[in-house]
Amino acid sequence: MLKKRTHLNIVRIGSDITFSSLKVIGQRIVETFAGLIGEFSLSHFNTPVVESIDAHLLTMVLHDEYGGHILGITDADLKTSDWDEFYNSIVGGKNPKNDVAVVSTNKLSPPQIQSEKDYDLYLDRTLKVSLHELGHNFGLTDHASFRKSRDGTLCPMSRGEFNKFGYRGYVRVVIDGRGLYFCEECTSFLNSIYGYKQKLVNFLKDGLVSQPSVLNAFS
Ligand SMILES: [Zn+2]
Ligand SMILES: [Zn+2]
Repeated sequence: MLKKRTHLNIVRIGSDITFSSLKVIGQRIVETFAGLIGEFSLSHFNTPVVESIDAHLLTMVLHDEYGGHILGITDADLKTSDWDEFYNSIVGGKNPKNDVAVVSTNKLSPPQIQSEKDYDLYLDRTLKVSLHELGHNFGLTDHASFRKSRDGTLCPMSRGEFNKFGYRGYVRVVIDGRGLYFCEECTSFLNSIYGYKQKLVNFLKDGLVSQPSVLNAFS
């Protein structure tokens, strides 16, 4: 079960996000899931430009097309008629029957992307939603209440109440509040099942946005 998830295929679906940006996201994912996800590859899935995609259907299509552990990233809206995870369905979801997680960048972008800072925020949010959905692939569940990890940021599995914040507030408070460390409970769960050891990463102090490798994403 674990072995097949060590390789992650990041699939871009009808999105403008660059491959170099996806590479940055992939590297951060590998760092956060130290040892659980060892490597990643990038693919592009050709699809007609659409405004919205049924999230569940998309996970099945990607599973049939590629198989294995997949993170699909699209800028189309993810529709979720029968999705069991309403609160995150607006930005991401995963199919419990396979190892496919999907993220929509549609609502994660700042109102306008005019600077590197705006773009980094967009990347940062895409990464955080990705970490959350991939966490589900390893059996982690949502935290209904805010759970902090040791650096004071919210555990990637924090969910919070969508209704309380409204959509934009939710992105700012919950998604932007998440960090790259799992909380103690999630860490010990991953440790007991997979022998996961949290790795100290040095980019946390200054945040993702000030990392040179992220800025390189523009080149
Ligand atoms: Zn969730
Ligand atoms: Zn947690």
